[in-house]
Amino acid sequence: MNRDQVTEGQIAQAAKTVYHEARHAEQWFRMARWVAGESGSWIEDERVVYADIASDIDPGILSKAAAQPLRSTSAGHTDDPTSGDAARMLALNRQMLAETDAWWTQVYGEKGQERGNVLFDLAKHQGQEAICQEELDAARGDVKTAERERADVQAALAGAGRSYAAQLAQYGDKVAGGNATFIDYLLLSFEDLKVTLLRGRTAELDIKLADAQRRVADAYKELLLTVGPGRVEAREKYQALAEEADTRALAARVEAEWETSGAR
Ligand SMILES: [Zn+2]
Repeated sequence: MNRDQVTEGQIAQAAKTVYHEARHAEQWFRMARWVAGESGSWIEDERVVYADIASDIDPGILSKAAAQPLRSTSAGHTDDPTSGDAARMLALNRQMLAETDAWWTQVYGEKGQERGNVLFDLAKHQGQEAICQEELDAARGDVKTAERERADVQAALAGAGRSYAAQLAQYGDKVAGGNATFIDYLLLSFEDLKVTLLRGRTAELDIKLADAQRRVADAYKELLLTVGPGRVEAREKYQALAEEADTRALAARVEAEWETSGAR
């Protein structure tokens, strides 16, 4: 892809993806901070309870999170709540805790099993779709190959036809002149045979082409069925997961900013 050919839509899409993934990283980091804050020195004491998140996060990142515990009694609480900054910090802390609680409940808490089912269902649909797409691509490739082969055979057939016509005219002259030999006859027969064989090959390729075209139609139909209501529902359930809804909301804000900003 040429740099000059990158469209604004592609840049916006890339920005959305980056923000989306970065937000997931932030979510997991914050959940680890929350765990560290709510359970104290959880890395030593709560190894079993929090093993799930610990196994999902890089150990280096995990110790960074443990060094910055997030608590309901953090920051704002100890400061003067009447001061603007402290009140703002307190509100922010509350919001962060509420968000983190929702993510934790969905990912590792009581809704974790439900999330597992949603992810499994989506993966199943995506797997089926990938198989259908693969078959469609393969069938389309076979159509192209058959079309190319057929074009080559057609060209060869045209050449053989011209060659036969020339040979036939020569043979006719020799017959008229009374000097045609058996060899002349064999040469003419040979040209005739070539034409016949190439016609047979064309017929074979017609069948091959029709077969590949039918497979394209079947695979396409199968793909449409696979990406049907079940797939849509699985995707919607996935997008409704707390941590996904949160990243999607952020990505949507980024996109809206991009569209209204002077940067475009
Ligand atoms: Zn996501």
